[in-house]
Amino acid sequence: MSKKLIIANWKMNPLTLREAGILVDAVESAESNADIVIAPPFVFTEYVSSVTSAETKLGAQDVCWEDPAKGGAYTGEVSATMLKKMGVEYVIVGHSERRQYSQETDALIGKKVAVTIKAGMTAVLCVGESLAIRKKGTSEIKKYIKKQLSGALSGIELSKSQAHKLVIAYEPIWAIGTGKAATLEDALGVITYIRSILTTNHHIPTTRILYGGSVDSKNIKGFLSDEDIDGALVGGASVNPKEFSKMIAIVATI
Ligand code: PEP
Repeated sequence: MSKKLIIANWKMNPLTLREAGILVDAVESAESNADIVIAPPFVFTEYVSSVTSAETKLGAQDVCWEDPAKGGAYTGEVSATMLKKMGVEYVIVGHSERRQYSQETDALIGKKVAVTIKAGMTAVLCVGESLAIRKKGTSEIKKYIKKQLSGALSGIELSKSQAHKLVIAYEPIWAIGTGKAATLEDALGVITYIRSILTTNHHIPTTRILYGGSVDSKNIKGFLSDEDIDGALVGGASVNPKEFSKMIAIVATI
């Protein structure tokens, strides 16, 4: 089985550098055999970079859709080049919270995927359906996921050897932050479909596909023991130091 990928999405947490240090310590002290990525808020990027070991990778939760070589007039934005120079390797793009609160469209998300890859980092593209769509049944779910994938990846050409420059995170919106994770069967249903789209339409069959949505120490083994799930995107549990280090240790036993 290939190495699993676990991405800690700290979202807008924690409030202080001191607490950020505690979260990093928890990651660093856990026995791990996975690729671990910490995606802190931008204000903590440099600090997290300075206190993590080489094994722990640095992530970002977003990126500007434009990346003018010399910077530019985009108030409040952070460019892919800035992130790359800061040591960031993975950028989360199209998280459902950004789609919802910042009205991000598939076209905008596609631009973010492109600038991330062009700058030499890996784009973690989040897709996932709402509860309303899930209730409509499998074919509606597939239609929605396919639209998200093709909308964001339409201008992106990756060779087979560049497949690792993209990661897809399947995150059903109804499972994010709710404590109600998808069942393994439901997650696999969509992940297998995503794999088929990546293989047939984008010719990148080896791109990693993660599950995200209320992953915790009780369910992570079930998800990551399956060879079709390449890892987890973890929100709430990643800002609980004890819980997250326990999760990393559990994955080391798989
Ligand atoms: C997320 O924010 O990507 C996420 C999966 O959150 P949670 O683990 O809290 O459901």
